Parts: sequence; C-alpha cells; structure tokens
Amino acid sequence: MSNVCWMNGSFRPESEAKISIFDRGLLFGDSVYEVLRVHHGRLFRAHDHYARMRNGLAELGIAAPMDEETFVRVLTKLVERNGVRDGTVYMQVTRGAGPRTHLIPKELAPTVFALAKEVALPSWSEHPQGVSIITVPEERWRRCRIKTTMLLPNTLAKQRAADAGAYEAVFVTDDGEVREGCSSNLFAVFQDRLCTAPAEGSILPGITRAVVLELAESLGLPAEEKRFTLEDLLQADEVFLAGTTNDVCPVVQVNDTTIGQGVPGPVTRKLMDAFAGELKALEV
Ligand code: PMP
Repeated sequence: MSNVCWMNGSFRPESEAKISIFDRGLLFGDSVYEVLRVHHGRLFRAHDHYARMRNGLAELGIAAPMDEETFVRVLTKLVERNGVRDGTVYMQVTRGAGPRTHLIPKELAPTVFALAKEVALPSWSEHPQGVSIITVPEERWRRCRIKTTMLLPNTLAKQRAADAGAYEAVFVTDDGEVREGCSSNLFAVFQDRLCTAPAEGSILPGITRAVVLELAESLGLPAEEKRFTLEDLLQADEVFLAGTTNDVCPVVQVNDTTIGQGVPGPVTRKLMDAFAGELKALEV
C-alpha cells in the first residue's frame, strides 16, 4: 500500500501526487524544505522548524502557505495516517509553477507537499562507537542559513564521504574555516569548551544544534559560537555532529587523523545522553 502524502491542501497516496514540469522548485531549486524528527508518534521541536521555514520563505519572498497551527496539524495528521512512530516528516514549499523564465513571475501559488516515513534513526547514546568524517571544499552559496533544496553540493559531498568509507563530509572554506556537514552541524571540544561555527548566514541554524547549545547551558558546559579552522579541528579533544537525522553523533576520525583517544569523549557522551533525554520526554 502506498504511503499517504499531503499536497496542496489534501491527503492522497504518494503515487498519485504530481508536480508540474514548470514548478520552479524543479526548474531552479526555488524552494525550501524541513525535516522533523518523529519520536513516539510526536513531532520534535515543531515550533522551531516552522519558524526556520517561515524565515527562509520570507528571505526568498515566497508567501508562507500556512500558519504554524496548520503546519503542526497537517504534519501530525500525516504522521498518524502513515502510522509513523519513529522516523521523519518532510515538508517542501516551492515558489510554484509558471512560465520558465529567470525573472520571477508575479502571483505564483506555492506548491506544498509533505511526506512521513518510518525510519530507524541512529541513537548514538545506545551505540557510542563513533564515526569518521572527511572534509571537502566549501562550494555552496553564501546564504546557507536558508534551507533550500539546492542540495547538489551536499549530495555530491555525501556520496564522496560514503565512497571514502566515511559517515559525513564537512565543508571547509578556502581559508580553512570549518562550516558544517552535508546534513549536520559540527561541534568540537577544545579543553572542555564546546565550539561550533556561528550561525551568521553561511551555515544552517540547525534545530539539533540549538538544542545542544541549550543542553550545554543547562549542564554547565561552557560553549561558544566561534569560527575555527581545520587545523584546530584536527587537534580537538572531541568532535561530534548534530542533526535531525544524525542525532548527536560522535566523530572519532577526521580525514586521516584520530580525534582524542579515538572513542567518544566525556563531553560528547553527556550531550548524547542529554539529547536522548529530550527525545524521551516526548514519550509521556
Ligand atoms: N546543516 C545542514 C546543511 C543540514 O542539511 C542539516 C539537516 N537539516 C543540518 C545542518 C542540521 O539541522 P537540523 O538539526 O535542523 O536537522
């Protein structure tokens, strides 16, 4: 049986959902998306995901197709209709379909659709062996704070990581600045101080990243949003990734360099457990 998706106001089987070949999401990557984690049938941090989507749409001049209450209602219903207990929901909003011109036609109606999927997302606190990552040149545009579907650099880099036997690829600028992963933010620990690239525009302000920063504060772990280089990263005591589909994921190797003792460090473990606790809170 086909999964049910939601599209432009109604639920229908995924196999019956159709998009115009004139949709600007398809032609120009002119669209934004969100991926939310579902745990025990409940949405994790829906408010924050909606706020990020609305900000992205506003930056691109696309009218928000729904308010927050509708966003939560539609996604909750979609999760229920597909019987998803643990997994993800995906929503994409495109500028809409119109004549193919670079100039943006006025008064397009956004195309909106959402999918829900049962997936076994990693829970690293239960399997804390750690992963290896590689670094790749930052080739993306300067407005990565917007969660657009222009993900070709990300998908190519992710494939490059997989081909190298690594879990994630992390973008590093020509000046050596460490940005973020293809689908995750990156944290490093330098002498007990947690550090992550500032959300100034060139990285996605990840929801998991924000939760980690909140948790660090409540656990009394010093943290700062600060630029750091690949050279710094290779000397970090601990490194981890944070993302909706990545959880809090310990990194034990960057390129050919072993991080710390080659096992998840104490700060990472604390945050992995605290993050698992945040998810657990959805179980009540
Ligand atoms: N950076 C990028 C480029 C991403 O695609 C993602 C995944 N959405 C993240 C960071 C992590 O963000 P979040 O915690 O909101 O999933």
